[in-house]
Amino acid sequence: MGMSGWRKTVDHGTKRKHDGDGPEMRGTSKNATTMGHHAPSATTEYNTPDTKFNPKLPFPRDDDYYKTLYTEELDFGLLGRHDPELNAVLDRGSHLDFTNPKSVMQLTKTLLRLNFGLLIDLPTDRLCPPVPNRHNYILWLKDLLDSSSPSYLDRGNPAQPVTGLDIGTGANLIYPLLGCAQRPSWSFIATDVDAKSLACARKNVELNGLQTRIRVVDRVLEDCLIPLDELGLETIDFAMVNPPFYTSEMELADLAKQKSRPPNSACTGAPIEMVCAGGEVGFVRRIIDESLVLRRRVQWYTSMLGKQSSLEMIVNILKQHGVDNYAVTAFIQGKKTRRWAVGWSFESRRPSLSASRGCEPSAGKKLLPCLTEVTIGTWYAPPQHIEKMLRDTIENLDLVSWTWDQPPSSGLGFVDGNVWGRAYRRQRAREQIIRRTGNGQPVHSHPLAQQKSHEECAFGFSVAIQPLKDLGSIENRCTVVVRWLQGNEYAVFESFTGFLRKSMCSDR
Ligand code: SAH
Repeated sequence: MGMSGWRKTVDHGTKRKHDGDGPEMRGTSKNATTMGHHAPSATTEYNTPDTKFNPKLPFPRDDDYYKTLYTEELDFGLLGRHDPELNAVLDRGSHLDFTNPKSVMQLTKTLLRLNFGLLIDLPTDRLCPPVPNRHNYILWLKDLLDSSSPSYLDRGNPAQPVTGLDIGTGANLIYPLLGCAQRPSWSFIATDVDAKSLACARKNVELNGLQTRIRVVDRVLEDCLIPLDELGLETIDFAMVNPPFYTSEMELADLAKQKSRPPNSACTGAPIEMVCAGGEVGFVRRIIDESLVLRRRVQWYTSMLGKQSSLEMIVNILKQHGVDNYAVTAFIQGKKTRRWAVGWSFESRRPSLSASRGCEPSAGKKLLPCLTEVTIGTWYAPPQHIEKMLRDTIENLDLVSWTWDQPPSSGLGFVDGNVWGRAYRRQRAREQIIRRTGNGQPVHSHPLAQQKSHEECAFGFSVAIQPLKDLGSIENRCTVVVRWLQGNEYAVFESFTGFLRKSMCSDR
């Protein structure tokens, strides 16, 4: 039997599970069919019930630990056993009263201490951040940045310094704290307009000894939101914000009334935290406007959103401006509360599917960014046969660069355009330029193509052969997954996957 019979599936995306969060008195939307952003569960040395909350184990811990922290409902009884201060606010040993501000604040303090080794001071009249929700945003950012990093490896380089801007950091300083706690190479600029919040944020920097990594900056309402020039920064890696959700205090009060929780719980927040002109869409619109000027000076512009309708509006605004390298996701907490997030970039490096299509909005697929990962087929053949076929096909092209790694059976390639197209190949055949590589394989090469750096190439991709293991089956089965890593045109990626599919299907 030939190796050609590739079959079916173009699968992408992973279903994810989210859980465990306290309430937050900010806009809640329902009715979304989402996958949301979180990670599949995995077991790490830290994730047994005894080790997960053990403050004696050192920080920072590995990425898997952080990914799987809140994939299950919080067990307050267990947390209480590790933290007497939480235990003191639990009823009947394991029940936490979410209508009591004191209990809600204690839960936040306990989670930050046990799960991240962080200390926090929280004023009673400012937002008390639900840790799982804020952590979800950081996890998503890690995925977004790692999968679009200049290493093209779909994972971060721990040695690479990363600078983020947290717009409206709040008294809690939650994002810079969570980011610095898990990524030693990250540092933050944290802004706010509220004097009380700024003072408390500075205290939180000191409490955690993060003075060299977090800079808290005063702003006023009329200032721009991304003040790179004023801060003396040429570029940063990301900007993030949890914007005031509401357009007026009336909207806030109306929404609070619709819920069963008291409007003045610890999670309500002060008016400056909750309300701004134009609500969250107005706030993000300002960031979009600034991004259209700053462009590549920030690799990822991102925002959390409280309403799904806002996500739809923001994506439409981005599309109107021709921004097609964007990412959407959902953060899901417990059974009711859901938040959305959007990010966009003017760079041509493309994020993974898990980062860019972390949710499927109820408005449908048209809101989603282009696919960046496609399974081109499944073969019943030994992986080494598939590898030969795949490498022969790719190495026969005019590549600017190509590396193959075994293990893990994956290749990284850069080309200068559609070099697999018929028109290009006909032209090449006429020119008949044939070069021989060191290992003796013939490679048709365009003389100019060799002079480009990866960043300058029109198209970058990776291909990976993934063995599939069926229980009880002795057959060899594997898939080939193609990932779009760089480029401005989805049509080029689509045409490349089509070319590979066709070449790998025909008998040779
Ligand atoms: N990041 C915190 C607080 C979010 S509330 C958290 O997630 O819990 C929104 C914050 O934005 C408030 O602290 C508010 O003071 C601040 N803010 C409002 N307008 C702002 C502006 N124009 N520039 C910077 N911060 C602003």
